[in-house]
Amino acid sequence: MKKTGFTTTALNVPFTKKDPHNSLQMPLYESVAFEFDSAEQIEANFKGEHIAHVYSRSSSPTVEYFELKIKALTNSNAVVAVSSGMAAISNTILAVTKAGDNIISSNQLFGHTLALFKQTFAEFGLETRFSNLKSKEEIERLIDEKTRAIYFETVTNPQLEIVDIEILTEIAQKYNLLLIADSTITPPNVFRAGKFGVNIELISTTKYISGGATSFGGAIIDHGNYDWNLNPNFSDYTEKFKKNAFIAKIRKNIYRNTGGSMAPQTAKMQIHGLDLLELRVERCYKNCMDLGVFFEAHPKVKKVVYPGLKSASNYKLAEKYFNGVPGTIMTFDLESKEACFAFMNKLQIIRRPTNLNDNKSLIIHPHSTIYGEFPEEERAEAGIHDTMMRLSVGIENVEDLIADIEGALD
Ligand code: PLP
Repeated sequence: MKKTGFTTTALNVPFTKKDPHNSLQMPLYESVAFEFDSAEQIEANFKGEHIAHVYSRSSSPTVEYFELKIKALTNSNAVVAVSSGMAAISNTILAVTKAGDNIISSNQLFGHTLALFKQTFAEFGLETRFSNLKSKEEIERLIDEKTRAIYFETVTNPQLEIVDIEILTEIAQKYNLLLIADSTITPPNVFRAGKFGVNIELISTTKYISGGATSFGGAIIDHGNYDWNLNPNFSDYTEKFKKNAFIAKIRKNIYRNTGGSMAPQTAKMQIHGLDLLELRVERCYKNCMDLGVFFEAHPKVKKVVYPGLKSASNYKLAEKYFNGVPGTIMTFDLESKEACFAFMNKLQIIRRPTNLNDNKSLIIHPHSTIYGEFPEEERAEAGIHDTMMRLSVGIENVEDLIADIEGALD
């Protein structure tokens, strides 16, 4: 088929099998197991000679269609859908490393990713070496023969920092390391991870892709641009599966054995989330730009950060990697924690949960919530201050958002 735009592609990914009723939408296959015609056929399936869905913890038709849609939209080699963004991250790191190995990352990470690396994985002998990912020298100093990957977030949450991906690609290639990006904040319509040399892309589909905080999910995306022979942890898979060694290890080992599959009902909702993704992101972006202008002019706002604003220090990187649309999250500072709390309590349209990239605008005070469990020194190091709030901008009419904020700042 001719190459089409993002939304046209999303609406027209073909089914793997013709639907018996010519359904225009992918039906919801809510079934634990799938039957075989004979004992011989199920034997052939277990030998890998007859490919079919068997048991929904390993694969199922609606989830498979969701994976196919992400594959088409990211122009990637293969996709595995999982139960959450954290499942995508943990499955991937478990596949790539073993006890005694290490990965390089930054301390500017989503709070639970930071906790996964610092606490959970550390207890199993997997070390994360935290570096300033903007410093080539510092990263290179931390690499040794047990380093397997460099892990980063495209736009860090909530600091909204952007690393120069080109530098990371260069180092990863020089030392044969895998480059893993969490691109949750910058969805596939604004960020083409494979084009910039990312090998494995991870997305919490709970956010934009779910279509408005409808359901939990995650996507593991293999861009097909890494030689798995370079990592000894894939030696059981490379000969048989070659380019698909990573996906085979995920499917036949980590994902199947740890049980983090996506529910078919979730896949059904997220398939529709993908259809409207581009439109929703465009609207959120326009709202961000208008709010940015408003915040910059308001005397009570001490600082506003949105890399899409021309005044932002990382605007050039936002243009280079995300076409100027670096997600739709912004932060702003008031003079004190008390002022932030008073402001948040007065809001009537903007909501106060802990989530982002809903259709609704959401606000949170990261210092006292997502990062509350970290000592003050670590929060300061990670750039989390008690005067800062994170605003995830939704699709409401912008004049209503501005009126809500204006009223709460009074
Ligand atoms: N990555 C980022 C950047 C996130 O913001 C989040 C959640 O907020 C996650 C990963 C984890 O996703 P989930 O909540 O779907 O497990």
